[in-house]
Order: sequence, then C-alpha cells, then structure tokens
Amino acid sequence: MKATTTIFLYFLILISLANRSTAKIKGQKTSDTIPTSAEKLIKCYPDFVKGYQNNNIILKDGTKLLWDDGIKNKSAKLLLDKPDIEDMFSQKYSVGIQKISLAVNFDPGRVRNEAFFMKMYGASDKDVRKNLTEITWCPKLVNQKITVTKINGIDKKLIQISAELDAHPEYKKYVTNIGGTFTWRNINGTNRHSMHSFGMTIDINTTYSDYWQWACKCTNENAGVMYKNRIPQTIVDIFERHGFIWGGKWYHFDTMHFEYRPELI
Ligand SMILES: [Zn+2]
Repeated sequence: MKATTTIFLYFLILISLANRSTAKIKGQKTSDTIPTSAEKLIKCYPDFVKGYQNNNIILKDGTKLLWDDGIKNKSAKLLLDKPDIEDMFSQKYSVGIQKISLAVNFDPGRVRNEAFFMKMYGASDKDVRKNLTEITWCPKLVNQKITVTKINGIDKKLIQISAELDAHPEYKKYVTNIGGTFTWRNINGTNRHSMHSFGMTIDINTTYSDYWQWACKCTNENAGVMYKNRIPQTIVDIFERHGFIWGGKWYHFDTMHFEYRPELI
C-alpha cells in the first residue's frame, strides 16, 4: 500500500473515532451501544445526564438509574405505575397536527419514571421550591405572574413561548387566567406525582379546556372516554417548538396541559 493511501486511511479512522458518540463513559465497553432513546436524554438534559453504561442512565452526580428492567409486555397500568426509563419512550409522541384517532391507552409522555424527574427538579415540595422563579406570562395580552422552575432553562423557554403567544390576540382567551403551574401533588385518583409537582408544566385556561376525568366524571383510568378538544393547533405548535408536549395528544386527554419533555419531540 502506498504511504499516501495509508495516511489517508489512518485519517479516516481518526475521523470516525472522533465522530463516535462522546456520551459513552470512559472505560465503557465498545459493545455496549447506547440506545437511541438514551442518547435523546443525554442530548436534552446536558446539565444532568452524563451518559449510558451497562443498562443504566448515569447522572452527573453519579446516580445510576436502571434503563431496562427486563419486564416485557407491561400492562397499561404497570407502565404508568412502575416504568423504567426505557418505558418512557414506549409510545411515540408526534409533533404537529394529530393525524390518527387516539387508540385506547395511547398516552405518549404520560409514562414517566418519577425518580428521573425528581433527580432533576427536586424530590420534595421544599427541594422543588428552591429552583422556582416568577415570570410574567404574555406581558401584552395577559400580564399574569406565574411560578416555574429555572431548571433546564424552563423559565426562559416559557418567556419565549409567552412572547410568541403575545403575537396572537385572537387566542387571548385560551392563554388568559393560567390554570396552574407548580403544585406538589399527585394526579387526581392516583399515587403518582403530577408533573405540576416539578414546576415544568403549565395548564392554560381551564374554561376552554377538556379533560378525560371531566368527560367520564370519574378517575378510573379504565373508563371509556370520548375525545374532545377546543385548543387551537397554533398554540400547540408554539409549545412543541420549545420542547413541551401537549396533553391533547393522549387517550387520557388533558388539553390545558403542556409539559417540558424535549426527549419526546
Ligand atoms: Zn396539567
């Protein structure tokens, strides 16, 4: 082989090595490839997620969170009650206009590993509060003070969202009288924390919103529910552009609800 060809090949190898995911932790076996969804967590939460190793998500503080618990074909209830981190990606969230009708229990983003979110936002009311700040929501149209977390730059993202919404006076009624941001609480009728516990979730005006528990007048997640929505798509698009998923895309619909889950978008 000519010397120039050898040097060329050598450089090719060097470039390919440099392009390999930098998220692997030093000393990790090369056969331990990072699942695509784990890479999303690493990319979306750079302040907290360090990498993936041996079936664990490794956080910057050294915490290991189990990626896949090996339990296959979990029921809808088990997925909601005892999800591993991998399960959070078990249903695909689609950005933009909803093209398909919602299958029973199709709730992309509603499966949440609480330990993961507690590590980022706080594991108690007191801990979460340490990271909260007040912002002015839609200064032109609404001018309401709301309390949200600073973690993951969510306060800044909501300021941007509200600036974009301010340009739509035709939608003022939907974004007026914000239904709620932070409250340390469980989801009504369950032992699971509401994502409102973490200050990274916002409910817009409840007057023009629809919720599966109001539709069935129950808290039973096995109840049959009829989908209903009155929130304009433009509002959904603005939130999604900034990493927030919308509860209007769930079988267990919650059309006032927007939650910061960039790993699903
Ligand atoms: Zn909500």
